[in-house]
Amino acid sequence: MAAETQADIQTIKTQSGQTLEVHTHLFINNEFVAGHGPLIETINPTTEEVICKVHSATEEDVNAAVEAAYASYKNVWSKVTPADRGILINKLADLMERDQDELAALEAIDNGKAFSVARDDDIAGCIGCYRYFAGWADKIHGKVIDTSPDQLVYTRHEALGVVGAIIPWNYPLMMAAWKFAPALAAGNSIVMKTSELTPLSAYKFAALVKEAGFPAGVVNIITGYGHITGSALASHRRVSKMAFTGSTVTGRRIMESSSSSNLKKLQLELGGKSAQIVCADADLKNAAKHAAAGIFNNHGQSCNAGSRIFVQESVAKEFIDLFTEQAKAIVVGCPFKDETNQGPQVSKGQFDKIMNYIKIGQEEGATLHFGGERVGDKGYFITPTVFTNCKNDMTIMREEIFGPVVAIGTFTDVEEAIELANDNEYGLAAGVYTSNHSTAIKVSNALLAGSVWVNCYDLFNNSVPFGGYKQSGFGKELGKYALLEYTQVKSVITLVDF
Ligand code: NAD
Repeated sequence: MAAETQADIQTIKTQSGQTLEVHTHLFINNEFVAGHGPLIETINPTTEEVICKVHSATEEDVNAAVEAAYASYKNVWSKVTPADRGILINKLADLMERDQDELAALEAIDNGKAFSVARDDDIAGCIGCYRYFAGWADKIHGKVIDTSPDQLVYTRHEALGVVGAIIPWNYPLMMAAWKFAPALAAGNSIVMKTSELTPLSAYKFAALVKEAGFPAGVVNIITGYGHITGSALASHRRVSKMAFTGSTVTGRRIMESSSSSNLKKLQLELGGKSAQIVCADADLKNAAKHAAAGIFNNHGQSCNAGSRIFVQESVAKEFIDLFTEQAKAIVVGCPFKDETNQGPQVSKGQFDKIMNYIKIGQEEGATLHFGGERVGDKGYFITPTVFTNCKNDMTIMREEIFGPVVAIGTFTDVEEAIELANDNEYGLAAGVYTSNHSTAIKVSNALLAGSVWVNCYDLFNNSVPFGGYKQSGFGKELGKYALLEYTQVKSVITLVDF
C-alpha cells in the first residue's frame, strides 16, 4: 500500500493566535521532498491536539539524503574556502536572528517550552553557537613538526565527509546547532534526523539554510522513527561519523550499528543523573536559587539536570525550605503566556513515565515534600516536585526521570558527599555550593562528571566544552574541542632532497 501523502506546506495556529506556515516534507539537496514512510502526527503537548503531520524517511530516503550529502561534499563543499564557509554560517545566524520569533513559536508549540525561554535562551544560544563556530572556520589548521633537517613533516586537520546526526526533542534547535555549527565549520556535509516528537523548527531552519545560500546537499534534514530512520542513518556505510544526543539505551544501539557497518567515528551525548552538593558553609539562598534552576529549567528535561541534591545535615531544613520556595514560585502554564516559566512535558509518554516515578518514589519511602501532581486536566503539565529523605539506593535517586522532579538526601562530611555523588552510572554534570575555596576545588576535582559548576548551575558558553563521563557518553560539544570531533588528522612526511 502506498504511503499516505500531503502537500509540503501546512498552515498551523499557535495558542496565541499566530498563524504559521510549516514545512512537513524531508529536506534533501536543498528541496523539500516527500518521504516514503508513514506520516507522523506531531502533537501539541499543551492542548494534546495534533498540530500537523510530517513525512518520515524510509531507508531509501535516508540513502537519498546521504548520497546527496556525499556528492555535495565531494564535488562542491570540499572546494569552498574555509573563509567562505564561515561567511555562510554567519549568514545563517543572521537569518535565525531575523526569524527568531517564528523559530521560538515553533519550539513553544511543538515542544511546550515557554516562548520567551525558547527565544531568549534556546534561539539566542543557537545564534551564538553558529557565530562562534563561523569564526573557527578559517582557523582550523595542523602543525609543522620538526623531525629532521631533510624532512618536512606537517599535519592537516581534514573534514570527515558525511556526518550523520540524531537529536532528541528537549532542545530541538539547540541540539541541532551544537552539531551543525562545528560540522559545517570544519567542512563536513551533514544529514540530521530530528526527533519524531519535535520536527517542526528544524524544517523552518532548513528553509533558512537554503536562503543563506548553502550549496545543495550540504545540509539535509529528515524525520522518522528511531528504529527505522535513525538506525538506517547510523548504519549507513557512507556516513563517516555519527553525532548522537539521546538516551544511553539508544546510544548503545548507535554503537552497535556503527560497529556492524563501517566503524564510523562516534560522539555520544547521553543521559544523566547529576548531583548537586550543598555544603553547610554555602550561601544557602544562592544555592537554593541555582539548584532549583538546575533541576527545573526546561521542565526538568535537560540531560544535565541536577536531579539529585545532597545537602549537609546541619543545614538541610533551612536549605529545603529555601529550595521549596523556589519550586513554589515557578509558574506552570501555557507556553505563550508571558508569566509562564514551565510549560507541559513534551508528550504523553514522558508525562506517564514521570508520574510513575513519582509513585515509585512514594512507594519506596521517600517523602513527597512538595508537588507531585498533574496541573489541570488537559496538557501534560506537572507541578515542580520535591522529594526529601531520599536514600541513594532509591529508584528516584538512581534513574534519569527527565521531568521536574528532584530527589534530596543528606550527608555528614564532604568525603561522604563525594562518594554519594559518584555512586551512579552517569557522569554528565555536577554542582557544588560552598564558601570555602579549597572545598570547591577538592570536590570539583573528585567528582566524576564532565562539567562541574561551583556556586551556580547550568551556565553554558559556546566556548566551553560539554560532554559526559561514564555512561553519559563520550566526545565534547562546543568550544575548540568540538572541532576535533569533526576532523581527522593526517600526517604528511616529505623527504626533502636538497
Ligand atoms: P532517545 O534516545 O529515545 O531518542 C533520541 C533520538 O534517537 C531520537 O531522534 C530517536 O528517534 C532516535 N532513536 C531512537 N532509537 C534509535 C535507534 N535504534 N537507532 C537510531 N536512532 C534512534 O532520547 P529522547 O527521549 O529523545 O531524549 C531524552 C534523552 O536524551 C535523555 O536520556 C537525555 O539525558 C538525553 N540527552 C542528552 C544530552 C547530552 O548532551 N548528554 C542532551 C540532551 C538530551
